[in-house]
Amino acid sequence: MTTMTCKELVELLMPFCDGELTKEFCDQICHHLNLCGPCQYFVESYQVTIKITNNLPPACMSPDFMERLLKAMINEECCKKNPEK
Ligand SMILES: [Zn+2]
Repeated sequence: MTTMTCKELVELLMPFCDGELTKEFCDQICHHLNLCGPCQYFVESYQVTIKITNNLPPACMSPDFMERLLKAMINEECCKKNPEK
């Protein structure tokens, strides 16, 4: 099984939460999460964010906003600890 990077995990989170990924990708996400504490924390935060944003009108959640939010979060939690990865 290949190991996905933190960046790949973030990019797959949205389809993952929408149930659009194959089992193979889901397994890779779980595998990465078991090894990567910052991503575990990130996903917990992300799931909370999804729950919050599900209750907002769609106009509040543009794809651009979501992308900036995700980038800000991954920069905080992952890139500082693994600057070369
Ligand atoms: Zn990670």
